[in-house]
Amino acid sequence: MKTFAKGIHPSYCKNETKGLRIVEAIAPLKVIILLHQNLGASCEPLVKVGDDVALGQKIGETSKFVSAPVHASIAGKVTKIEKLPHPCGTNVLSIVIEGSGDDSRKLENSIFESRGIENISHLEIRAAVKEAGIVGLGGAVFPAYVKLSPPKDKKIDTILVNGCECEPYITADHRIMLERAEDVVKGAKLVAKACNAGRIIFGVEANKKDAIKVLREVVRHKPEEGIYDGLEVVELATKYPQGGEKMLIKAVLDRAVPSGGLPLDVGVVVANVGSCVAIAEAVFMGLPLIKRVVTVTGSGICEPKNLLVRIGTTFKDIIEQCGGLTADAYKVIMGGPMMGVAQYTLDVPVVKATSCILVLAKKDVEEEKIYPCIKCGRCVRNCPMNLVPTRLAAYANSGKFSDFDEWGGQDCMECGCCVYVCPAKIPIVQLVKLGKLKLRQMK
Ligand code: SF4
Ligand code: SF4
Repeated sequence: MKTFAKGIHPSYCKNETKGLRIVEAIAPLKVIILLHQNLGASCEPLVKVGDDVALGQKIGETSKFVSAPVHASIAGKVTKIEKLPHPCGTNVLSIVIEGSGDDSRKLENSIFESRGIENISHLEIRAAVKEAGIVGLGGAVFPAYVKLSPPKDKKIDTILVNGCECEPYITADHRIMLERAEDVVKGAKLVAKACNAGRIIFGVEANKKDAIKVLREVVRHKPEEGIYDGLEVVELATKYPQGGEKMLIKAVLDRAVPSGGLPLDVGVVVANVGSCVAIAEAVFMGLPLIKRVVTVTGSGICEPKNLLVRIGTTFKDIIEQCGGLTADAYKVIMGGPMMGVAQYTLDVPVVKATSCILVLAKKDVEEEKIYPCIKCGRCVRNCPMNLVPTRLAAYANSGKFSDFDEWGGQDCMECGCCVYVCPAKIPIVQLVKLGKLKLRQMK
């Protein structure tokens, strides 16, 4: 089975939610729309305190190329515009909307549906995706419009649809593939049209055989019967971090993205399955990105669920809709246990990057004592980016940032494999993050 070199095999802990259908969460009375929810530039507010806003109205935007607008996920009144906590740990300018309960505005505007993909131009697709504020929903939050607008000197031949969802606990993408396969395929075709790519390959890990079967039925890819119509579904080994863009490209196409480069440097655009659904909704229905699927799970949650949540809903509201926290709930993380970010307050809102709210009970959280490096080399043997994590951590820790840069610190994808295998429990990822931040500041 196809895969990449190195990586790890953690416990996947997906059984709790992988069989749970996506349920629409109750619309909250208040949402907090952060003006920085994408990789790239922040948005400027387009509204002021006291304004009434309609459901789906664009309320934040910037003219910078690498950015994505934000929209009101409920109808109501703007009550505050101020800096509030981002689940990634910083404070960012945010728009607070208190709901009027009027969700009656019809968002759908299916101007393209009747025309069919072949009759929609690449410029129309890009414009709809840009207007809808779509970003990569797998966690990278790279503006989709930018991805769909490759420079003229870069030929894209393949669209890789990422259905790996290799992070433990999270099952949002798995459910999307099972419940929205038609829309995943439609969105992938739109991405291919926008990038003028001739081939679409769906990459899915072997622990989601039901999703592979459903996708193959939709795309008529039946290797056993020799049926193939240009869209292919590839089964990949279950290994972390198979869903990393570079790992996926290597596993499926055997192409290596150069250091500091992007998938388009090797003729590829990677799109997450949730992003494909959002792109199909934006183009065919005129829907802005105001909702996303969030897996709420872990030993500290009373009723784990896969919820379709309005962006801007607080973690507190969502946890209440999942029966609340258990008595021994101890740690709340946005994302999975490998790459997620621990939270210090439940008043943070769901952002476009929130694929999971993971709550762990005390028994599942070990307080680790840190020891000196014993030079065992495990971190090196498992780093999927072929880095030397022990050295990167040491350089960042001792302030040798040029050495850190020279040894490829900026290529670290912060997957956490090195920390997972390190017997000394050295916080390598945190040190690498520090090194990257210092380098950015220095530059
Ligand atoms: S150094 Fe970075 S890329 Fe390598 S294993 Fe550690 S976190 Fe992953
Ligand atoms: S795994 Fe930990 S102890 Fe072993 S070499 Fe790497 S940093 Fe040192």
